[in-house]
Amino acid sequence: MHKTIHTEVAIIGAGTAGLYALREVRRANKQFVMIDKGPLGTTCARVGCMPSKLALHAGAIRQQINTQAATPLALPNLNQTWATLREQRDTFTDRAIKTTQAAAQNQLITGAARFLDPVTIKITQDNITTLVHAEKVIIANGSRPAVPGWLEPVREYTVSTDEIFELKELPSSIGILGLGAIGMEMGLALSRLGVRVVGADLSSAIAGIGDPLINQQAIQRFGKEMELWLGQPTAVSLAEKGVLLQSGNRQIKVDLLLAALGRRPNLDALNLQEAGFPLNEKGIPVFNPHTMQVEGLPVFLAGDCTSSKTLMHEASAEGSIAGFNAVQNHPVAFKRMVPLGIAFSDPDIFSAGASKAELDKHNIITGLAEGGSNGRARILSEADSLLHIYADAENGTLLGAAGMAPHAEHLAHLLAWAIQRGETAVSLLQMPFYHPVLEEMVQSALQDIVRQLPHKPAWPFGLAPVNHH
Ligand SMILES: Cc1cc2nc3c(=O)[nH]c(=O)nc-3n(C[C@H](O)[C@H](O)[C@H](O)COP(=O)(O)OP(=O)(O)OC[C@H]3O[C@@H](n4cnc5c(N)ncnc54)[C@H](O)[C@@H]3O)c2cc1C
Repeated sequence: MHKTIHTEVAIIGAGTAGLYALREVRRANKQFVMIDKGPLGTTCARVGCMPSKLALHAGAIRQQINTQAATPLALPNLNQTWATLREQRDTFTDRAIKTTQAAAQNQLITGAARFLDPVTIKITQDNITTLVHAEKVIIANGSRPAVPGWLEPVREYTVSTDEIFELKELPSSIGILGLGAIGMEMGLALSRLGVRVVGADLSSAIAGIGDPLINQQAIQRFGKEMELWLGQPTAVSLAEKGVLLQSGNRQIKVDLLLAALGRRPNLDALNLQEAGFPLNEKGIPVFNPHTMQVEGLPVFLAGDCTSSKTLMHEASAEGSIAGFNAVQNHPVAFKRMVPLGIAFSDPDIFSAGASKAELDKHNIITGLAEGGSNGRARILSEADSLLHIYADAENGTLLGAAGMAPHAEHLAHLLAWAIQRGETAVSLLQMPFYHPVLEEMVQSALQDIVRQLPHKPAWPFGLAPVNHH
């Protein structure tokens, strides 16, 4: 059976980016169709942000009980904990599915989309072929975990983040390949739940940390909870009921492997090249990050499929830009937010604004604050907390920050907002800092910057005279 649909806007992908795009299209009262191959429920809710944070939370509770109980308590069986996590996760997914169905208003087409040309999309599902001719198209079809071919010999004992939350039985030991934010979060969650974890990465940095001192501190801290094999390749081979990991002179057999080796955009399934899209060397359509428009076409990109800022808040912002611009005669170029990244590693690792590696070391000042000098961090037994703030060496304008501290999700936001607002070390110091709080680490790092400025204010730290401009 064949069906042909003519519409104003077609959105491919009902994930976070697609749903934000849809909101803008509906606000403009345009005709639309939304196409998704399923399952619905968004990566964030089903296999991403939410279940990973639930796992970390479960791990933290178990760790607390284990360390504080005078006598061993009967803890729930680990597989039971994982099943509970799945149930909690399903509440997020179910809500996302309901939101999608309500928002799509019977205009949801189920099936995998392929382009015939940039505004003609073919969807085949259950012997029904639908051809959609759209005036504008939004591509928001997300990404999938990378499971490279060299893992094929051990695939039977390998899971991706799409699969790990579905396990009915957790292993006694697990190897984690790839220690970016996702690999570190999953490794720490599982280790705190009682699984033996060995994490390996070719890079010497964990959680994508771009500041060598913070990285060193984080390795010292988290190396106590999971074995970390860094800076060398790790070979994998089949062992009896598991996988043998080998790196340098180390080797260990684990029951299961988690491939946390990054994510691939799903664009390769869309037949883009043959349909006439201008592609870069990575196979991504050439697009403007301020309008999200693909060069020369009435097509917009949003979310993980762009392969650039693969985070939920960026997917929603890009979806809004793409949706808004798809219903304009002339696309509007929008400002993008400063980068913000958080690993919920407890203590959390974060970066806000530019990373140290991106900045010219001759033109910046780094302000340092250590948990050992912060009352709150010491009360919380988190004296190894560390914060770096990078500022322009001439005028103290804040450019970036990175750190490791308890609940640093909050410090990360505070600093990202200050950087985006164009605050300087002097202006931010004029804000109130309560005592004893972790924010006093920000105060200390800012004071450290001001001490290094070539032109220091005449006033005491944090003060500005009335009527002074
Ligand atoms: C384990 C993990 C933890 C994470 N933690 C965080 C976190 O703490 N904070 C954070 O900000 N981000 C986190 N992320 C990243 C975040 O989840 C993603 O950036 C975000 O969900 C991407 O949304 P999206 O709309 O681009 O993609 P998706 O939500 O994946 O939506 C894409 C949709 O497109 C559909 N689709 C795919 N191909 C086709 C096709 N050919 N035709 C039709 N439909 C198709 C899919 O079915 C899907 O519904 C995490 C990710 C993972 C994996």
